Amino acid sequence: MQNLDQILTEAQAAFAAIDNPAELEQAKARYLGKSGALTELLKQLGKMPADERREAGARINQVKDSIEAALNERREALRELQLQAQLAKEALDVTLPGRGKHTGGLHPVNLTLHRIEELFRSVGFAVAEGPEIETDFYNFTALNTPEDHPARSMHDTFYVEGGDLLRTHTSPIQVRYMMTHQPPIKVIAPGRVYRVDSDATHSPMFHQVEGLWIDEHVSFADLKGVIADFLRRFFEQDNLKVRFRPSFFPFTEPSAEIDMGCVFCGGAGCRVCSHTGWLEVGGCGMVHPNVLKHVNIDSQKYQGFAFGMGPDRLTMLRYGVNDLRLFYENDLRFLKQFN
Ligand SMILES: [Zn+2]
Repeated sequence: MQNLDQILTEAQAAFAAIDNPAELEQAKARYLGKSGALTELLKQLGKMPADERREAGARINQVKDSIEAALNERREALRELQLQAQLAKEALDVTLPGRGKHTGGLHPVNLTLHRIEELFRSVGFAVAEGPEIETDFYNFTALNTPEDHPARSMHDTFYVEGGDLLRTHTSPIQVRYMMTHQPPIKVIAPGRVYRVDSDATHSPMFHQVEGLWIDEHVSFADLKGVIADFLRRFFEQDNLKVRFRPSFFPFTEPSAEIDMGCVFCGGAGCRVCSHTGWLEVGGCGMVHPNVLKHVNIDSQKYQGFAFGMGPDRLTMLRYGVNDLRLFYENDLRFLKQFN
């Protein structure tokens, strides 16, 4: 019986040292369980003399109550600790600044591409696409570019393993289109193109849009009319001047460079137009009979024109952007202005 006080002290100390509910229940079994310390003492009561038995029984029950009280107290404390921990974990700092909302917008070059497609669709052109990795045939041979033409040199063209290349212009789209369609053909081909070149006005990846109109009676006059009409509508200037200068391309004959009056100075001369009053915006010409031959179109019966322009440059001119690289740096301060 002298052990009773010791058992109580031990139990109280053991409970106090425990900080998780499962362990606490295990500790309870050590004192109050079927083979616990108190239960063992109760079993021995029967061996005691009758007069001592009553007093001892009362004493054991007292200690048992005290142990249960200590147990309940610790249970309650652990429950409270658990609640506090959970609340601390789920706490929100309502004083943190909010994330805010941002509205996205199209990239300025995409705005231009959409605008170009819309304007050409409105005068009956379809829109075609093609692969960016091309074969030598579609990129050069079919376009009347001889084997020794400088445009094929490593300086201009990105080659990929296996002899294919990153298309250097969107013309292969037209070749593919002509091979799968018979005249009348009236199509534009916008897309990304690649050349080994990089400075303030050149990027190794840039955009082109080319157009093609093949039919029985399509003339050079139609070419000039379509181009001038497009540029006037694109820049929203009804009186915009447009002129053609003689030029050379392997895939057109005759060929011309397309100039338009400077949209910044109205032709008076400024830095953008190098004080000439004119801005070069593309190239064009009547499709070379050899090109038609390569795609099995009868060049005796059909003729037509092709043209190419740079959507990046058109975007720079329309929005007054003076460095091409701004389009590819993805600086939100720049892009936001086009939302
Ligand atoms: Zn100018």
